[in-house]
Amino acid sequence: MKRVGILSLIHESNTFAVSPTRIESFEQDNLLVGHEIRGAFEGGHHQISGFLEGLEQANLEAVPIFHASTSPSGTITKATCETLIEMMFDALGKARELDGFLVSPHGANAGEGPDYRDLDGFWLEKLRSHVGPDIPIVCVIDPHANLSERMVAACDATIAYRSNPHLDQKERGHEAVDLVALTLKGEIRPTQRATFPRFGINIERQGTTLWPCLPLYELANEQLGRPGVLSNSVVLGFPYSDVEEMGSSAVVVTDGDPDLAQNLADELVSYMLEHRAEFVGEYISVSAAVDQAVSTKGPVCLLDMGDNVGGGSAADSTLIAHEIHRRGDTTGFVCLFDRESQDRAREAGVGARLTLSMGGKTDDRHGDPLEAEVTVKSTHDGTFEESEVRHGGYTHFDMGATTVVTTATGLTISLTSRRTVPVSLGVVTSVGLDPSDFQILVAKGVHAPVAAYEPVCTELVRVNTTGATAADMRTFEYQHRRCPMYPFEDIKH
Ligand SMILES: [Zn+2]
Repeated sequence: MKRVGILSLIHESNTFAVSPTRIESFEQDNLLVGHEIRGAFEGGHHQISGFLEGLEQANLEAVPIFHASTSPSGTITKATCETLIEMMFDALGKARELDGFLVSPHGANAGEGPDYRDLDGFWLEKLRSHVGPDIPIVCVIDPHANLSERMVAACDATIAYRSNPHLDQKERGHEAVDLVALTLKGEIRPTQRATFPRFGINIERQGTTLWPCLPLYELANEQLGRPGVLSNSVVLGFPYSDVEEMGSSAVVVTDGDPDLAQNLADELVSYMLEHRAEFVGEYISVSAAVDQAVSTKGPVCLLDMGDNVGGGSAADSTLIAHEIHRRGDTTGFVCLFDRESQDRAREAGVGARLTLSMGGKTDDRHGDPLEAEVTVKSTHDGTFEESEVRHGGYTHFDMGATTVVTTATGLTISLTSRRTVPVSLGVVTSVGLDPSDFQILVAKGVHAPVAAYEPVCTELVRVNTTGATAADMRTFEYQHRRCPMYPFEDIKH
């Protein structure tokens, strides 16, 4: 039986976030070798779940080797990059001979210093030189990747999820297995080419089922029907990484036809550039968004784009909470990462009243701490499970010790001890709350929360808050991005 190795290193690195990402974050979340990887992913919705299931169905032996992942956060320190790469290649060295690889870099891994700024490209290139040119390597990335030429050169095929929120990760894992299986049988020769325009799609415009992305995906789907095309991907890009390859791109895989692959990637990019003005985004202020939310039948979900936890932001922005608190005429739920306030509220005990200074502590871009007298409602261990397919494909969640407090002005605040990406309604329901009891549910994200919140909300409004993931990329100062590049500068097309 032919053996296929599985390697992954998944982090969305926000180089504008103040706190660097260290090895401890990976240790706390996922730093796994060998059979531990099966335990974490078997039966789940992640691409690695798809790798495991697909390989078994294809009668190939899955050899899970290394997996590291942690929630999106700041640049990965140099020492952590070194440790992760060393662990990965140590584990690889211990595996017996392999016939192919399924790999999963995020695509927006960014480490400290010039060697590791394109961390994905670094380890994929190292893997390619380790195994030689003839072993197939098929790669699955997040469409929030900043795809680099090194990444494309190192792999035989690159496949990005086709949905945002990401609900097709497992399916893409299966697609990757199919390419590896057919290549190992000698039936296909995957050949890929990519196009890297000087262009980035605003995060607010990256919903794949919505205009203006929808027609681009329709074009991509139409290309899949053309003879010789094995796979294609729109890579939306991740604006919050100050790296040379920051931006949107397209990659096409054909059966041994590099010119066709290049032409089709160019066609996808032409569509992006011709419609570039549509991808710039819309900016609704906090007060306008809250006005809109209180004038509609609730609950209304306000998406806090500047504090997009899934994009590496602080998770403690108070900007929308301040507005709800100031008005005092509505009800709102907000989750804030604030260990210190959590500890104090928990210590005071359920039923106690105390004054807390909540959130706004990570840096000065996410609002001032919200100072208010609160009543302690409940305490929780913060863990919960999600059985539905949700953005990210994970099923186990851990917000750390969590305490719920309320203010007399209508706010309910869940104080957590870990940053939590709100991809599951468990953020609300696991602490004993009913979403329908609120006029406003604040979710700190842009597209990731949609699958969970859309079924229980009458409307979702994307709010232009400041923060480490502010929607308008033109508000960040880059040192490494290409110039000129749209929408920072105009470009010719
Ligand atoms: Zn993503």
